[in-house]
Amino acid sequence: MERREEIRNKKRVVIKVGTTTITHSETGNIDLEKLEKFVRILINLRDKGKEVVVVSSGSVAVGKKVLGIEEKVQEGARKQACAAVGQGRLMMMYEKLFAEYSQLTAQILLTKETVVNEDCRENARIAFDELLRRDVVPIVNENDAISVDEELYGVFGDNDTMAANVATLVDADLLILMSDIDGLYTDDPRKNPHAKFVHTVHYINEELENMGKGAGSVHGTGGMATKIEAAKVAMKAGVDMVIANGANIYTINDIMAGRQIGTLFKGDGHNKIGGKAYEVYGADWIQE
Ligand code: GLU
Repeated sequence: MERREEIRNKKRVVIKVGTTTITHSETGNIDLEKLEKFVRILINLRDKGKEVVVVSSGSVAVGKKVLGIEEKVQEGARKQACAAVGQGRLMMMYEKLFAEYSQLTAQILLTKETVVNEDCRENARIAFDELLRRDVVPIVNENDAISVDEELYGVFGDNDTMAANVATLVDADLLILMSDIDGLYTDDPRKNPHAKFVHTVHYINEELENMGKGAGSVHGTGGMATKIEAAKVAMKAGVDMVIANGANIYTINDIMAGRQIGTLFKGDGHNKIGGKAYEVYGADWIQE
């Protein structure tokens, strides 16, 4: 298998974990074992001299659990309450785990306005820079408790697009989206046995956009379409982005070691036309 040597040299990395990656699917409780492994992976990356920014979903799911709400929580006051309660609980867990390694963390809650409005954006950038300069690991989420879907800015709604904006904001070298899908397929692999796995995207064309609309995830907020949107944001800023399945959290180590896992969207692909838009594995490829 080919290696992605360039990934090994990435210094500033934004890693997003989805709700399904850090909670038990059966109950919605935080998967403590996985969260602990995730934190150790991050500590290891820090020890190797990398700068890491975490974008973590899960506040709504965790808050729902804590508040004993069984029904689906999609919007409105109940979601806001879940986010507020869950965010605290989530941070407490991260804080506790990072503290075991004497690693400082910080919570940053963003709204869409924060990254779209020039002044807010600059202010957010200053905060991230200062935290990273002080060797703190920022843990970011959307401020779901207060963000409103108003006309001017709206909300992110999904952490994929938000993570891409964070990666742009902090001038990251790499964005990793860990979710419940392996990456991009040419078609829905559950329905089409001939669907091929796309390992590298050089630029996004209409065909790729359409691929994104087909296959999707059943849990979590973002399906493949939001990941394509995220890729567009990252690529525009020249940031490489990898999407991979978070079922095995150690996949982060494989990605960072340059193994060809998940789908890599090349950051230099913005505005590219002509040539191969994407590359797939041959017929002999067996999914690991
Ligand atoms: N901000 C939401 C949460 O933490 C998650 C959004 C997403 O899943 O993309 O619950």
